[in-house]
Amino acid sequence: MVKAANPGGTTPGRRRPDRRILVVGGGYVGMYTALRLQRMLKAELGRGEVEILVVTRDPYMTYQPFLPEAAAGNISPRHVVVPLRRELHRCALLIGEATAIDHAKRTATVNTLATEEEGAGPKEIAYDELVLAPGSISRTLPIPGLADHGIGFKAVEEAIGLRNHVIEQMDIASSTRDPAIRDAALTFVFVGGGFAGVEALGELEDMARYAARYYHNIKPADLKWILVEATDRILPEVGEQMGKYAVRELRARNVDVRLETRLESCEDRVAVLSDGSRFPTRTVVWTAGVKPAPLLTATDLPLNGRGRLRCTARLTVEGVEHAWSAGDAAAVPDITADEPGTECAPNAQHALRQTKVLAENIAASLSGRPLREYSHKYAGSVASLGLHKGVAHVYGRKLKGYPAWLMHRMYHLNRMPTFNRKARVLAEWTLAGLFKREIVSLGSLEHPRAEFELAAGGRRTSQGPDGPTGSGDSEDGRGSPKDRPKDGP
Ligand SMILES: Cc1cc2nc3c(=O)[nH]c(=O)nc-3n(C[C@H](O)[C@H](O)[C@H](O)COP(=O)(O)OP(=O)(O)OC[C@H]3O[C@@H](n4cnc5c(N)ncnc54)[C@H](O)[C@@H]3O)c2cc1C
Repeated sequence: MVKAANPGGTTPGRRRPDRRILVVGGGYVGMYTALRLQRMLKAELGRGEVEILVVTRDPYMTYQPFLPEAAAGNISPRHVVVPLRRELHRCALLIGEATAIDHAKRTATVNTLATEEEGAGPKEIAYDELVLAPGSISRTLPIPGLADHGIGFKAVEEAIGLRNHVIEQMDIASSTRDPAIRDAALTFVFVGGGFAGVEALGELEDMARYAARYYHNIKPADLKWILVEATDRILPEVGEQMGKYAVRELRARNVDVRLETRLESCEDRVAVLSDGSRFPTRTVVWTAGVKPAPLLTATDLPLNGRGRLRCTARLTVEGVEHAWSAGDAAAVPDITADEPGTECAPNAQHALRQTKVLAENIAASLSGRPLREYSHKYAGSVASLGLHKGVAHVYGRKLKGYPAWLMHRMYHLNRMPTFNRKARVLAEWTLAGLFKREIVSLGSLEHPRAEFELAAGGRRTSQGPDGPTGSGDSEDGRGSPKDRPKDGP
C-alpha cells in the first residue's frame, strides 16, 4: 500500500517513503524491533523506500529489571535507560503519546509537546505497517486512598522517587519526638509479591538497613517492612520451592510477609489489611500486577477478555493485515504449552525473544517470504532479594543465596541492551564493591526551582511521590522538613 507524499508526515517538506513502518512504544518490544529492522532493512532505508517511525512517550527505553537496583542506589538511574536517538539512528523518532489508532484507515493520532504548544490539535500519522507495543500499566483496584497515596514501580522516575522518599522518611523519623510520626515514617508497605514488589522491597530494605548505621537514633530493628500478597506464595516465576525459600529469607530479615492477605484501604495514611491489621504509614508501594496499556481500547483492533491484543503465533494481530504486536500488550499463544489457549506471560523473557521473530516476519512480509511462528518454552527466572541475596530457578536448576544473586546480575548484565550500558553498569558494580554504599537522598531534584523561588521571594513548593503538597507542606502536614526547625532527637 503506497500513500501520497508525506500525509500527516513528521518532517515538513520531506518526501513520504514508499512504506512507513510505525512502531508505537519505545520499550523492550518497540526498541528491539526497530533496532533489528534498521539492520535488516538497511538498504531499503538508505534508498528511502522504507521509513521506520517510532512514536514513544520518552526518548529512552527503560530496562525495568534493573529498577530495584536503581532504587537501592547500586546503579545510577541514567544507566538503566537506553537513549533511543543514539541506538535507533536510522529510524525517525517522535516523542509523543499515541491516543488512538484507526487501522482501517491506517492512521494513528499522536499528541506531542509541540502539538500541545501549537494548539493545533493532535497529529494524524499515516502508516503502512503497524507495530503496536505500548506495554502495560499498573493494574490497580478501587481501594480507598490508593489513588492518593499509592506509589507505583514501573518507571525510572518512580524508582528514584521511592529511594528519595524512603531516605526522607528516615530523616523525618530521626528528627521528630512524636512516636506516632516516627512509627508511620518507618513503616513501609509493599503490595504484590511478584518480581517488582519482592525485588523492590528486598533492595530497599537492604539499603535502608545499611543507611540506619549513619543515623544516631535509628536501629535497623526500628524499620518495619510489610509485604502483602493476595495468594499463598510469592515469586511464582521461580517455582513453589524457591518461592517458599524467598519467604523464609525475607522473614529472617524481619520482613513481615503476609500471604493470602489483601490491602483493603490506605485512607488517612493508614494501611488496613484484610486480616484486620492496621499500619499507619506514609509508604504504600503498589506492585500487584499489570494490565494492558489504555491505548489498546482506542483502536479498532481485536482485544481478548483481559484487554490484550489478540495475536497469532506469527505476531500478527488476529484477523487484520499489516498489524503486528508483541510483549505485555499482546496475547500471543504459547504454542509450547500443553494446555491449548495458554498465552505467553507478560515478561521480558518473552518480549525480547518475540522481537526477533517480529522483525524477521515484518521483513519477510515486505519481500513476500513466509512468516514463522514464535515458540519459546519458559526457561524459569532469577530474582534478587537484596545485595548478595537471591533466588533462581532456571532450566530446572534451583539456586539460592549468593550464587543465585550472582546469576541474577550476570543474566541481566547480559540482557541489558548495548555494550555502552553494560560497561557502565559493570563499572558501577565494581566501584560499589570498593566503596561504601550511597545513602544520599536527592529529593530536591524533583522540585529544582524551590531554592530559587525562595530566593526570589516566592513560596517554596514541594512535590514528593505523594504528589504536590503545596507550599512548605510536608507529609506530616507540619511544613517541609527543610523549611521548619528540626524537632531534635
Ligand atoms: C520493576 C520491574 C521488574 C521486572 N523484572 C523482570 C524480570 O526480572 N524478568 C522479566 O522477564 N521481566 C521483568 N519485568 C517485566 C518486563 O520489564 C516487561 O515484561 C517488559 O518491559 C515488556 O516489554 P514491552 O515492550 O511490552 O513494554 P514496555 O517495556 O513497558 O514498553 C512500553 C513502551 O510504550 C510506551 N507507551 C505506552 N503507551 C504509549 C502511548 N500511548 N504512546 C506512545 N508510547 C506509549 C511506554 O512509555 C514504554 O516506553 C519487570 C517489570 C518491572 C516493572
